[in-house]
Amino acid sequence: MTEATMGEWDVAVVGGGLAGLVAAATATDAGRRVVLVEPRPPGGRARCDEHDGYVLNRGPRALYLGGPGHQVLEALGVDVSSGGPPPTHGARIALGGRLHRAPDGPAGLLRTTALTGREKVALGRALAAVPKLDASSLVGTTVAAWLDELGLCGAPRALAEAYVRLATYVDAPDALDAGAAVANLQAAIGPGVRYLDGGWQSIVDALADGHRCTVVGAAATAVAAEASGASVAITTDTGLLRARAAVVAVGTPSAARSLLGPAADDDLATVGPPVTAACLELGLRRPSGHPFVIGVDDDTYLSAHAPAARLAPPGGALVHVLRYHRVGEPTDAEADRALLWRAAERAGIAVDDVAVDRFLARMVVSGALPRAAAGGRAGRPAVAAEHRPGVLLAGDWVGPEGMLADAAIASGHRAGRHAAERSATMAVP
Ligand SMILES: Cc1cc2nc3c(=O)[nH]c(=O)nc-3n(C[C@H](O)[C@H](O)[C@H](O)COP(=O)(O)OP(=O)(O)OC[C@H]3O[C@@H](n4cnc5c(N)ncnc54)[C@H](O)[C@@H]3O)c2cc1C
Repeated sequence: MTEATMGEWDVAVVGGGLAGLVAAATATDAGRRVVLVEPRPPGGRARCDEHDGYVLNRGPRALYLGGPGHQVLEALGVDVSSGGPPPTHGARIALGGRLHRAPDGPAGLLRTTALTGREKVALGRALAAVPKLDASSLVGTTVAAWLDELGLCGAPRALAEAYVRLATYVDAPDALDAGAAVANLQAAIGPGVRYLDGGWQSIVDALADGHRCTVVGAAATAVAAEASGASVAITTDTGLLRARAAVVAVGTPSAARSLLGPAADDDLATVGPPVTAACLELGLRRPSGHPFVIGVDDDTYLSAHAPAARLAPPGGALVHVLRYHRVGEPTDAEADRALLWRAAERAGIAVDDVAVDRFLARMVVSGALPRAAAGGRAGRPAVAAEHRPGVLLAGDWVGPEGMLADAAIASGHRAGRHAAERSATMAVP
């Protein structure tokens, strides 16, 4: 990437998170002159921070293998092959105030002390059916209604909800679309996920350095299609630039609304609420405690990302503990901080082994959850729409594909392609 001044461009991308970086790389690879407008170092929520040799990914990050994001990254030449799977062997669940072996797979289900015999049969039947389900047949049904249909209640239901949280990060069974949730569960059970060596900074660096795109270090304040329809004006805090097409990839629906104004109201009418979480990152001098614990009782999740991936100094470990926020409910940072430390201690992590710790009170995991009432992922705002010619949207709340980073990358790719095609067919502004 190189620094640029204002001017006229084929494609302007506003926002340099995964969605914007992918859009910029896609349009650049199509031969367009692309400018990226981003006031901070690139990466957005995918950026990592290094502390004393520990790579902190701003909360846990797992790349879905076989998902649309993985496919796009490979097509753009981003190497995401090095890293490892989550340390789920011997995983535990916290239920009823105790740790139990997780009922993952037939052997785990047989041995777990978390469930009675009858509960094991009920949960086992439900889990065994998931890989064969047609996720599209559940679009428009909430997760709660789907679990009702399965007749799940008590501990098996609490566990099923915890698995949905694990696969989607969403704690909103009454709103989340079951079609979207089941698709993510199937992806988690099937191809699985990977923790990346070097964290997601490796994706950011490959996208930012591997594609010749120009950067304006500024914040956009408005994006508007010009009356002629031939170009889009991007006002920034350091000046004005014009492009034949612009991709708005600023992370959340509210950030997009602040740039687009009422032109975005049609798009935003049905978006769901944001999904947030509290995170505790622990760099350990040596691996200690259980490496994978699902907190069924308290909506938490703990996973050792290193040594599974290279994110800690040799011999060390990096553990992420996360509390899913119940969507739409108030949060209490101090209560969350205390809860996450308790979850770490409950997993057997020795406080003396902690070399680095960081608490993040409220991270936006996803700009908006796919609501069943809005038709799930297909009901999210479209990347391109007739009422905003030349202005494309991208982000983890946009487009019909995937959730989380999959949605950000897939919509970024689609937006980059649209922008490149449009700029090729428009007259010079
Ligand atoms: C704790 C946590 C855990 C997660 N775990 C996973 C996981 O395991 N798997 C998974 O697939 N996904 C996960 N995600 C989600 C994933 O990180 C996001 O979906 C993805 O990074 C979003 O990318 P984005 O580009 O849409 O948005 P962002 O990364 O938010 O990027 C938006 C960018 O726009 C810039 N911007 C904002 N306003 C302006 C403006 N006015 N002008 C110019 N630039 C602007 C910002 O500076 C930012 O760089 C997780 C997220 C969190 C927070």
